[in-house]
Amino acid sequence: MDFGIGEECGVFGVYAPGQDTARLTYYGLYALQHRGQESAGIAVSDGKELTVVKDMGLVPQVFDERTLAALDGHLSIGHVRYSTTGSSEWFNAQPAFRSGGDTGFAFAHNGNLTNTADLAAGLGMLPGIEAECSSDSDIVAEMLLRQFPSTARGDGRDLERALLNVLPELRGAFSLTVMDDAHLYGVRDRNGFRPLVLGRLEGGGWVLASETAALDIVGAHHVEDVAPGTMICIDATGVRRIRWADADPKLCIFEYVYFARPDSELYGQNVHAARQRMGEELARQAPVEADMVMPVPESGVPAAQGFAKESDIPYGDGLVKNRYVGRTFIQPTQQLRGMGVRLKLNPLSENVRGKRVVVVDDSIVRGTTTRQLVAMLRAAGALEVHLRISSPPYRWPCFYGMDTGRKGELVAADLTVSEIGKFVGADSIAYLDLDRLIRATGAPDAGFCTACLSGEYPVPIDPADFPTPVEKRGVTALSLGV
Ligand code: SF4
Repeated sequence: MDFGIGEECGVFGVYAPGQDTARLTYYGLYALQHRGQESAGIAVSDGKELTVVKDMGLVPQVFDERTLAALDGHLSIGHVRYSTTGSSEWFNAQPAFRSGGDTGFAFAHNGNLTNTADLAAGLGMLPGIEAECSSDSDIVAEMLLRQFPSTARGDGRDLERALLNVLPELRGAFSLTVMDDAHLYGVRDRNGFRPLVLGRLEGGGWVLASETAALDIVGAHHVEDVAPGTMICIDATGVRRIRWADADPKLCIFEYVYFARPDSELYGQNVHAARQRMGEELARQAPVEADMVMPVPESGVPAAQGFAKESDIPYGDGLVKNRYVGRTFIQPTQQLRGMGVRLKLNPLSENVRGKRVVVVDDSIVRGTTTRQLVAMLRAAGALEVHLRISSPPYRWPCFYGMDTGRKGELVAADLTVSEIGKFVGADSIAYLDLDRLIRATGAPDAGFCTACLSGEYPVPIDPADFPTPVEKRGVTALSLGV
C-alpha cells in the first residue's frame, strides 16, 4: 500500500550537569518519533565513561525504566532512525560509537550524504558490503575516528578538530549531534536541508533538537536555529559557535508540507499555520463548488481547514484513520488484498453520502492509495470527489534524506496533472503552485530546497552514489541539472 512519503531521522542532544540527561533525551526522542520508527538510541557520558544503548523499534520499545536508570551522566545525545541509506538493521541504528580519543565519541545523523561512494573509497571501504559501513553515517563516524590521534593535543578538543577537518569533505544533507565525554556538538550542513535548533533548559543546560516541538516537551525555550554551515560547541565553558562553511540556506520545503510536527516552528513560522495557509492558497488557486471539504487524515487536516475557511464550504470528516497501522504492519495476503487502504482509512458514509466533497491531502506519491480512496468515497455515496493537493506534483527523487525513490514509482513523474486525475478517478484535481507554496510558508525569502518539485538540485548528484533511484527513474545526470 502507498501511504505516502517516508520520514527521515530525528536527532537530539542535551548538556545539563545535575540533570537526568538520558531521561530528557528519551522524552526528546519521543517528541521526534514521527521522524523515524525503525530504531532508537541514546548515548550518555558521566565525564568518565561513554555508554550507548540502541536497538530496533520505537523509543518505548527500546527503553524502559531499568535501561534509563542505568544511563547516568550530564551529557547525552539520541537518535530515531528511518533508513534512507543502509539497511534497517541493528548495526545501522544510531548513535554510532567509535572508541577513538580519550573515551570515544558518539554520533547521530539526520539527512543523506551525496558523495558516499567517494568518501567510502577514500577510506578504502565499500559501502553496503562491510557490515560496519553500510550507511553514510557510519562512514562519517569512521572518518572522524581516523582523524585521531593526529588531532590529539591533550586540551579536550580533539573531537572538535576532527569534526572541523571532516565536515568540509561531506556533501549533501546532514544535521548532526555529536559528543565525547565532556562536549556536545551540533552541526548543520551549509544548506541546512534538515532543521536543527538550540534551546535553553529552564533549570540550566542546553538542548539541541531536530525540531522546536522537542524543546517544548523537555521544558527548554528556543534560543536559535543552528545556522547552516555552523557548528555549535557546548561544554563547561558555555556555548561557542564556529562557522565552518559559507551558508546557502535551502531548508527542505517538505518539512513544511509534511515532515515536521505541526507544533514546531521553521524559520520562525508555526508549521500548522503554514499548512493552513497552503489550504487557503489552494482554495484561491483552484476553487470548486462543493458541499463539504474533508481532509485525508491526519496530514491533510490543516490544509483542509484552510481550504474550507477560504472557500466558505463546510469542513467535515469523511474518513476515519486507524492510527496504529505503522511500518511494522503485516501486509494483507493476496486473498485479502481487497481490504487495501480500508485497513488504514475507512469512509464515514453518514458524512459523505449525497455530497460533493473536496478531498484535501498534502501530496500524492504513487497514486495507488488516492485511487482507492476516491473509489471508497464514491462507494460510500459521494456524488462528486474533487482532489486538492497542498503541494506541487512530486516528480523528482529526493537525495537529501527523504524516502520515495527506492520504494515506488512517482505517479507525477510520468503523468500530467489531468492524467493523474483520470488515474485516481477524481472529478477534478489541482496541485498547489510552487510560488504559492513558498508564500504560504510565511518565510518566502528564507531559502528552500524544492528539488523533488522543481528538479533543481542545490547539491549536484552523482548518479553513481544512487544507482537504484536514478536508473529506475530513467533520470540522467543531465536532467538532474548536474
Ligand atoms: S528534494 Fe524534496 S524532500 Fe528532498 S530535501 Fe529537497 S524538498 Fe526536501
